[in-house]
Amino acid sequence: MSAINLAIVGVGKIVRDQHLPSIAANADFKLVATASRNGTVDGVTAYTSIDDMLDAEPSIDAVSLCMPPQYRYEAAYKALAAGKHVFLEKPPGATLSEVADLEDLATKQGATLFASWHSRYAPAVEATKAFLASAEIKSVHVIWKEDVRHWHPNQEWIWQAGGLGVFDPGINALSIVTHILPKAMFLVAGTLEFPENRDSPIAADLHFRNVDHLPVHAEFDWRQTGKQSWDIVAETAAGQMVLSEGGSKLSVNGELTFSAPEAEYPSLYRRFAELIKAGTSDVDLAPLRHVADAFMLGKRKFVEAFHD
Ligand code: NAP
Repeated sequence: MSAINLAIVGVGKIVRDQHLPSIAANADFKLVATASRNGTVDGVTAYTSIDDMLDAEPSIDAVSLCMPPQYRYEAAYKALAAGKHVFLEKPPGATLSEVADLEDLATKQGATLFASWHSRYAPAVEATKAFLASAEIKSVHVIWKEDVRHWHPNQEWIWQAGGLGVFDPGINALSIVTHILPKAMFLVAGTLEFPENRDSPIAADLHFRNVDHLPVHAEFDWRQTGKQSWDIVAETAAGQMVLSEGGSKLSVNGELTFSAPEAEYPSLYRRFAELIKAGTSDVDLAPLRHVADAFMLGKRKFVEAFHD
């Protein structure tokens, strides 16, 4: 099979940090065009809108949509309608309904739709899933606390409705938890803290359980200075398991049992190529459903205004 002609829409931080090097290292893809109002990539034909790009470049086979989630649906719909395969950055959209509509369209068009969850491809996630599959789990505690000023400086979209606020990183934790736990969990109580000048939360405290009443407590906070935490701790009959550093390291009873170099985006592009070759899609909305549930069931608290 010849290389898949790929285009990127929304050239920004994650494209430069992760997509470009991962695409360059993957012989299944050839980057042939970009569509972005301002961003461009050296040596690649640039358009300022997806309409102009799709009109001018009929050889495009697939597009990666990397703009903020509030603006992704329209571009995804146009790309699928034109018969292109589509890679959605996380979160796959601003609402569940729009992503469901994209799934229907992808099926009708016989095109691949890939709702990517990069944290699921963190190095120690599969080893953790295997550990938990045979463990008696007593409780799970998710601690995802980071400094928004460091990680998202001046990203206005992230604070606007649909930008998800602290759920932008929090959904990464949820994408891991929903993958590694043997049984589905659901929200039973939660509190969301909204800065009085913002549409999206700066912190969330969530309590889930599953059919066996397993307690899963998730704490997301964007006000963390000093040490940052992206950890999932499970108390099990075999001892304490810690999946730390965003899924990079697995320790059991304080002993490091698995770690490997980070390769999330190379893995995502390998998966996208596999899906295209197999003629299938991969759209798991569980992480986004939990966020929607938090907005439905969570209590709202207003806290002091946030300024970058
Ligand atoms: P970003 O740099 O703020 O935005 C990406 C690009 O989207 C911008 O450079 C901009 O390009 C375009 N864009 C911004 N506002 C737009 C609008 N109103 N309409 C159309 N296009 C718009 O964001 P990012 O950090 O790369 O994140 C993009 C997505 O990737 C998000 O869903 C995020 O959750 C996900 N992600 C980010 C990271 C990270 O570390 N940053 C990690 C993993 C996943 P133009 O001005 O050129 O149009």
